[in-house]
Amino acid sequence: MEQREQRYIAMTETSLFKTYNRAPVSFATGDGVWLNGSDGRRYLDMGAGIAVTSCGHQHPHLVEALQKAAAGVWHTSNLYDIPEQRRLGERLAAATFADRVFFCNSGAEANEAAIKTARRYHFVNGAPERTRIITMTGAFHGRTLGTIAAGGSPKYLEGFGEPLAGFDQVPFGDLEAVKRALSPETAAIMVEIVQGEGGIRVMDKSVLRGLRELADENGILLVFDEVQTGMGRLGTLFGYQHVGVTPDILAAAKGLGGGFPIGACLATEAAAAGMVAGTHGTTFGGNALACAVGNAVLDVILEEGFLEEVRRKGLLAKQLLAGVVDTHPEIYKGVRGEGLMLGVECRVGVADVTAAARDAGLLVIPAAEDTARLIPGLVATDEDLREAANRLDQAAVALEKKLAEVGS
Ligand SMILES: *Cc1c(COP(=O)(O)O)cnc(C)c1O
Repeated sequence: MEQREQRYIAMTETSLFKTYNRAPVSFATGDGVWLNGSDGRRYLDMGAGIAVTSCGHQHPHLVEALQKAAAGVWHTSNLYDIPEQRRLGERLAAATFADRVFFCNSGAEANEAAIKTARRYHFVNGAPERTRIITMTGAFHGRTLGTIAAGGSPKYLEGFGEPLAGFDQVPFGDLEAVKRALSPETAAIMVEIVQGEGGIRVMDKSVLRGLRELADENGILLVFDEVQTGMGRLGTLFGYQHVGVTPDILAAAKGLGGGFPIGACLATEAAAAGMVAGTHGTTFGGNALACAVGNAVLDVILEEGFLEEVRRKGLLAKQLLAGVVDTHPEIYKGVRGEGLMLGVECRVGVADVTAAARDAGLLVIPAAEDTARLIPGLVATDEDLREAANRLDQAAVALEKKLAEVGS
């Protein structure tokens, strides 16, 4: 790393936990999928704060909603009726399979609520022994002690003691392995429709349908972690609508608040049967500020024609990226993904690719060991997507030059 970058990081992290490798730049303003850097440069943001700023930066409708909410009472706790929360819950239920919604503050918490809901379902239905959850390799469900156990990644479990019991992991997409892992203690199967952190790995529709059948045949619940795939990213409000397989429980977060922290656990009436007063709770979850913004995000995403545009732009972006990959076979290997959740598989280190992209004024996000993720605000225009492809091309040219220098 350049000395200038090291100095910047030393300066900004003096009293913070050293849990992140931060790039040496900050952003105070932005518009659409563009960010103005502290270094005076304009960056094309294809990361969206990790699939969070679903409506782009400083969307006028979201800004107005938050400002209006900020002038009222911010927080009362869930001891009282919160009209904005009730409204957001009703709207999410009306637009999905769900009858019940629990609001929290993050994706990990949404998954914790999903796991607890699945276990309680069996508890109140006379099968308290059904506590185990089947998950898949490469999964990412969050960083709490429960969700690192669910994710099963040794990298995230190391050094944190005995993992929380109750998770059985099978190879990604392996339906036969799921069958073998089923036991009288199985409560649920929990998967991402498209693995995000795992490298934009798309689960086969036939596998998802198979999981639904297995769940039905065995009286267990199907949980979709849609923290990343949800809120329009795959071109439908939630990804399950895109693949045509309906879960019993769904976790959402990331894009739901467009940058304001909020998560949600959605469930059918039957699946939520065990979650009665006193079983679960949160101080902050679903407060007036968060839900006002959540409602504003829904206004944008559910507007006539918006999701159709996401589908069209997703196809365009995939085509553009495939062109860049073809032009630079030494640097890139292929494109994966659905909608505006795309991954460019790299032949060189993904950290080198994200750094070269940043040098070209493009923000992309690493996933797994070898994939650069493009998960932009859903308001990205055709022109933005063309420019992203251009800049990924520029990054490849710079990396090829470096490779040639090393080679000679
Ligand atoms: C980001 C993510 C999470 C964790 O969300 P946090 O808000 O960071 O807790 C869980 N599941 C998936 C699929 C994610 O992409």
